Amino acid sequence: MPLKVTSALRVAVILVAAGSGVRLGAGVPKAFAPLCGESLLAHALRGVFGCGEVGHVIIVAPASHVDHCRAVADHSRVDAEHSRVDVVSGGVDRSASVEAGLAALRPDDGIVLVHDVARCLAPSDLFARVIEAVRAGHSAVVPGLPVTDTFKVIDAQGRVLTTPDRDSLRGIQTPQGFLREVLEQAHASGASATDDAGLVERTGGQVRVVAGDHRALKITSPLDLTVAAALLQDGSYAG
Ligand code: C5P
Repeated sequence: MPLKVTSALRVAVILVAAGSGVRLGAGVPKAFAPLCGESLLAHALRGVFGCGEVGHVIIVAPASHVDHCRAVADHSRVDAEHSRVDVVSGGVDRSASVEAGLAALRPDDGIVLVHDVARCLAPSDLFARVIEAVRAGHSAVVPGLPVTDTFKVIDAQGRVLTTPDRDSLRGIQTPQGFLREVLEQAHASGASATDDAGLVERTGGQVRVVAGDHRALKITSPLDLTVAAALLQDGSYAG
């Protein structure tokens, strides 16, 4: 396989933001739920645009909110004129939304990061760390944190089958970064998985973990919003 010159590849971020957010109960799609006076989408874009290496951002929006997403992006990118922004409609599930984002890639996008708007406080340096690892030659990269709970594998009756060694477990976050063709092939395979790296694994690819960040927590429930607000307010967040 020829050596790929990854330093020259443009980075695109697919920001999946088409979820309904029913579990959050905010009465609006999750991307527009308020957190300390701004939408999750606006917070997420701060992390994306703050990483100077991102040349193209594709926001995958709820079909009913494409124009709204465009307005939030225009407002957020004041200092990020280097980034091109496209907004497309999402699909029926997360995987379909990622595929809508893949369809909007431009010919010169060579590295693709997939990021959940639900992890809206992921800082810019986390994006940079993932990009650096892809540029260093890893074709699929995920951020991960050591876990503190003990995890058990159970059967349908709730019986414990095994207890994996905690040292070998990581809680996996987004942004997840890929060489474009690796991500496209994984999605074209028809396999299913709960994250994009899982698709790469199922199609025989190697995935590398880099250090995650506690600020990239996934906002799913109202309690998560409270935790995220506390992170913003205590000054430990500096996207
Ligand atoms: O629903 P969940 O929180 O697991 O969604 C993870 C991410 O996928 C969120 O950022 C959500 O907006 C996105 N998503 C999407 N399209 C869907 C479902 C989820 O973009 N149809």
